[in-house]
Amino acid sequence: MKPINVDQLIDIRNRLYVALDKKRSERWCLTLWSRFIRARDAYSCVVCNSSNKVQAHHLFRRTLLPQARFELGNGISLCPECHRLAHDGFNGRPDMSLPIGAQGGDDQDEIAFYYRMLLESAESQNLSHEEFYSLSNEMLQFFVNVQGFEFLHRAVLQKKISGLTMAYQIWARAPEGMSLAIFKANVPGFSGGELPEFMVGYPAIFICR
Ligand SMILES: [Zn+2]
Ligand SMILES: [Zn+2]
Repeated sequence: MKPINVDQLIDIRNRLYVALDKKRSERWCLTLWSRFIRARDAYSCVVCNSSNKVQAHHLFRRTLLPQARFELGNGISLCPECHRLAHDGFNGRPDMSLPIGAQGGDDQDEIAFYYRMLLESAESQNLSHEEFYSLSNEMLQFFVNVQGFEFLHRAVLQKKISGLTMAYQIWARAPEGMSLAIFKANVPGFSGGELPEFMVGYPAIFICR
């Protein structure tokens, strides 16, 4: 299918908003959410670019974060193969009742990877983060609860960065507690407290591997 234009995309998004507003059935709202996510991603897998039977995937699963199931910034289009890999990654482990990121490592890296892909997709399609990849304050707060880095959330509230950019940056970093320990061990004179705000643009420094 051909990519659609921004007006059509807004129309598809607004149908979801109206359905949510009118408290239509869960199933119908999810159908509209999925329709929007696939249209936004130009009916292509955001990871491998395949346009074969693309499906909308929740970055944060419905069981983990049910209130985020209709958020635009919680969806990514994947082909069946990449979708299967996503679920292998997330669901193959026994202890996924824990919040994502609580165990560190792969889950977090995978989330960061998908947000990175979404950022690139938004850029290449020239789509507004706020209009088409929005994340609620509640969801951003959840990210902070797991990862720390309150200043990233503040940067979003002050409109210095988008929620989507924050999502990538916060999951691409080692959790704040770990980052602080690394910082303390390596930066003479740094005695703790919040990480300096200038770190906003440099997530890679705190990626743990
Ligand atoms: Zn794919
Ligand atoms: Zn999925």
